[in-house]
Amino acid sequence: MTGAPLPAGGPGRTAVLVWFRRDLRLEDNPALLAAIESGCPVIPVYILDADGEGAWPPGGASRWWLHQSLAALGAALRRRGSALVLRRGGSAAVLRALAAETGARMIFWNRGLEPAALSRDRAVQRELADLPIEISRFNASLLFEPDAVANSSGSPFRVFTPFWRHCLTLPVTPPGPPTPGRWAGPQTWPRSLPLAELKLEPRLGWTAGLAESWEPGEAGALVRLRTFAAGRAAGYAEGRDFPGESATSRLSPHLHFGEVGVRQVWEALGAARGRGPEVFRTEIGWREFALHLLHHFPHTPTAPLRPEFAAFPWRTDAVALGAWQRGATGYPIVDAGMRQLWRTGWMHNRVRMIVSSFLVKDLLLPWTAGAAWFWDTLVDADLAANTLGWQWSAGCGADAAPYFRIFNPVLQGRRFDPDGDYVRRWVPELSRLPADCIHDPWTASPETLRRAGVALGGNYPHPIVEHAAARKAALEAFASIRRGLD
Ligand SMILES: Cc1cc2nc3c(=O)[nH]c(=O)nc-3n(C[C@H](O)[C@H](O)[C@H](O)COP(=O)(O)OP(=O)(O)OC[C@H]3O[C@@H](n4cnc5c(N)ncnc54)[C@H](O)[C@@H]3O)c2cc1C
Repeated sequence: MTGAPLPAGGPGRTAVLVWFRRDLRLEDNPALLAAIESGCPVIPVYILDADGEGAWPPGGASRWWLHQSLAALGAALRRRGSALVLRRGGSAAVLRALAAETGARMIFWNRGLEPAALSRDRAVQRELADLPIEISRFNASLLFEPDAVANSSGSPFRVFTPFWRHCLTLPVTPPGPPTPGRWAGPQTWPRSLPLAELKLEPRLGWTAGLAESWEPGEAGALVRLRTFAAGRAAGYAEGRDFPGESATSRLSPHLHFGEVGVRQVWEALGAARGRGPEVFRTEIGWREFALHLLHHFPHTPTAPLRPEFAAFPWRTDAVALGAWQRGATGYPIVDAGMRQLWRTGWMHNRVRMIVSSFLVKDLLLPWTAGAAWFWDTLVDADLAANTLGWQWSAGCGADAAPYFRIFNPVLQGRRFDPDGDYVRRWVPELSRLPADCIHDPWTASPETLRRAGVALGGNYPHPIVEHAAARKAALEAFASIRRGLD
């Protein structure tokens, strides 16, 4: 792109590179705003750096989302007379090359706080130290950055309630002023790869359900935030546990990719009265807590926070794992959740708790296997939140559910999906069963099953484990490591 307007900068001023990462938005983007305010020509850049993600490159669903989100960001920038330069390669090498091509003397970015992002950013700073380039970093992803929050002895928090109580005594920075409608660009734009060349979209066409369910990008994120704040937030406290209702915000992928800033979310709901907004703010607190833990305990995506659990006697069973992944366990609420995940890239929080408990307690399969599947299939796959969620379910993390409290999938289904609407939607072969047996179809009479068109062991599986026996086995496994926990 050439000939972009230069309203504030102009010929002779050196350019500033704005390195976009997981902050794929124009509003409340401190790095972008500071670059614009510098008056220098602004060059927005996104680098696909396979090695910069450490052991956790984005999974399939996240790559699909990233592709759409980059397309949306590029289009939004073009509407403002700017552009998004796409490159692939090692971050430091690409930034060095871009600085040489454009004569840029400044690089601005919003801090990444995950361990891999932090070490990549430090490496970039080290590797560019020989250049006459000023690097500025900003906070765009949290209300309370991990290093600014410590308990009275100066250590990280490990329990949510005191963490969040402490956070709420700290000031919250409001979102920045609106981003200008146009700003200075370079006279000659550096070359950009076509988006398709990043090869983010999967070759196999399993993403139709994702496209039907979501609008990735800042515009879609702001619509979700506004409609939630103006409507469903009021009933959030009562509705949020019922997967058949659309009571939650579904902001998670938008927050993960930074298409909306948490400060914008806080501003939209921070002062709202009532139990709904109050409970919602606490969930935002869990997001903050998850990153606090990951930041301070960077080993936890693969190892339990409570080391005693390292000795847990997990089973290996590829058949059972496959049945769980496909939504074919014979437990309707579990299967509904796993199928919602596969189809839409998202699963309701209550059902995430049920399916994860089922994997680790009923099937005795390692939480890391479940976390890996979620990582590949969730559009909101987030290292901090996923680790926290799985360690919570497995009982081995901070603030975890005690291991001996084992969800009964039938009772959970009856309680949180009382009419069976959620199961009917995602497990259509059970849709004609009456509510009183939809969560345990094996208790239905042969006549009821026949009338509903259900053939157990035919079009719907028998339960792959018997819950009462599985519960006993889980408690025995727990007892075997218990001595270490006392
Ligand atoms: C086993 C397991 C794995 C999970 N994996 C992820 C994950 O990879 N990515 C992810 O974003 N969330 C994860 N969660 C947390 C939670 O299920 C989702 O954040 C939530 O369902 C997203 O839907 P929503 O945006 O409608 O949430 P809302 O209820 O509207 O909540 C608003 C926001 O608060 C944050 N939030 C809510 N609950 C949590 C939580 N328990 N932990 C951290 N942040 C939270 C999210 O950013 C969410 O978008 C996981 C939970 C479990 C039990």
